Amino acid sequence: MSDFNDLIQGPNLAQRDGKHLWHPLTQHHTAAKPLAIVKAKGALFQDDMGKTYIDGIASWYTAMYGHGNPHITAAMTKQMQELDFVMFSGFTHRPAIELSERLMQILPNNQAKIFFNDNGSTAVEAAIKMALQYYHNQGKKRDTLIAFEDGFHGDTFGAMSASGLSSYNGPFEDFLLKVERIPAPTDTNLEQVLARLETILENNHCAAFVFEPLVQGAAGMKFHSAKGLDALITSCKKANVLCVADEIMTGFGKTGKNFACDYLDHQPDIICLSKALTAGMFPLSITSCTQNVFDAFLSDEVAKGFFHAHTYSAHPIGCAAALAGLDLLQSAQLLERRVDIQRQHRAFVRNVHVHPKVQNARSLGVILAIDLKLNTDRYGKLRDRLYAFFMQRGINLRPLGNTIYVLPPYVITDAQLKKIYSAIKELLEVF
Ligand SMILES: *Cc1c(COP(=O)(O)O)cnc(C)c1O
Repeated sequence: MSDFNDLIQGPNLAQRDGKHLWHPLTQHHTAAKPLAIVKAKGALFQDDMGKTYIDGIASWYTAMYGHGNPHITAAMTKQMQELDFVMFSGFTHRPAIELSERLMQILPNNQAKIFFNDNGSTAVEAAIKMALQYYHNQGKKRDTLIAFEDGFHGDTFGAMSASGLSSYNGPFEDFLLKVERIPAPTDTNLEQVLARLETILENNHCAAFVFEPLVQGAAGMKFHSAKGLDALITSCKKANVLCVADEIMTGFGKTGKNFACDYLDHQPDIICLSKALTAGMFPLSITSCTQNVFDAFLSDEVAKGFFHAHTYSAHPIGCAAALAGLDLLQSAQLLERRVDIQRQHRAFVRNVHVHPKVQNARSLGVILAIDLKLNTDRYGKLRDRLYAFFMQRGINLRPLGNTIYVLPPYVITDAQLKKIYSAIKELLEVF
């Protein structure tokens, strides 16, 4: 870094940050100063003191093709010079059209329409509003959601309502939509969960069943079976409840298939995508739905249309990033790399699962999670110590409670992956 850069943004960035900035998920009274990051490339980012870190969770599961991927930045630059932005109401553009066509080729084949939003929460918000209005338009009163315990769907009110993690929702619980909550299905509880669902569906006021398919991310990378989820979806479909799959975390190859729903026999009516959609380059999201959902909004009455918009909906630069991301998702090189990471994760799980400090170790696709046999509250002190342990070793992981998880960019090298595994093994010895 040049002296000039040092002068302007130099070593006191964290100090300047404290003056005017308010960070997400942060208790500023007690939190440590944030780390100033100045550069990122591939699976690495670098702080203002020149130290590099492996981005072990791809910056919240977004930068799956690596930071600063030249194929994506080139596509965005080209798009920027051609058409920067135009509103998406009354106008359309090639990047959005091409993206809809390309996504339709890989989404479950019951999906027919794509609605654009600008972040994950608003993709879920739109999905919930679609479901509520779907019934409203037909003159039916359906005002309740069904959702899993410990789910996470975002921080706007509808999305928060579907979420079941009280650490996020506490102060707002009195203001949320009506929700019936069911446990995620496991091998041992499926019968009970199904029975509970049947009771909920008996006097049916439910518009939608909103779920994270196969992996509940914020809950601590908890997995549930495709078979169990299929059974729940089947019951909901029989009762005409729209099924909404939140693939914001799981989408774009992380579970080993393009989408977690690809493991299911019964497909959701609505799917939410964001995060890796634009490879960490641009905030954009989509809510896709079936022709049947779309058709419920067609009418001579204007008010039966879906009156929901965000100014930056379908931003051309975001669409260009997403299109370039799809090239990479489907490239032979990264397909092979994903299989390779999956194989190494499995070997590591076999290696550590019998360790006395490991309560559970699991992997699916490039997602690896290890629950430690240590007691801690979700954002308690132990979690901070785990976080610091990895950061000292140049690895960015964000443990959730006693769960350590790794969700690396597909471009991570074997050496970088090994460094993460060794740090986890070291941790198992010293903690
Ligand atoms: C991150 C996430 C969201 C929220 O997305 P934002 O872009 O942060 O609003 C919703 N659902 C799931 C499963 C997520 O992982």
